[in-house]
Amino acid sequence: MPDETVALMPPAAVRPSSIAACKACAAYAANPLCGVTYAAGCRACTVRSLARSPGFHASMAAGKFRADYRAALQAAAGGGWAELHLEVKAWSEHQAGA
Ligand SMILES: [Zn+2]
Repeated sequence: MPDETVALMPPAAVRPSSIAACKACAAYAANPLCGVTYAAGCRACTVRSLARSPGFHASMAAGKFRADYRAALQAAAGGGWAELHLEVKAWSEHQAGA
């Protein structure tokens, strides 16, 4: 399991360089409150989508993975699902603190 120092690092998915590569991310960056879309196969979009999912919020509230959220992580990232979760968590915390 990754330790807390890993979790505290800014996720690569939300850096401007990767945002510029995706139209959905560019649209979101231009106006986060209107017409939010997600592009399939885009890591940053996946992170954003999962961070807004009911399964993620239920999992954070419960302190453990809910089946649907974990399944969504594994569907998106396979064996790297735990790392993807850290990105989702970091993105969610970033939004909460913005
Ligand atoms: Zn994207």
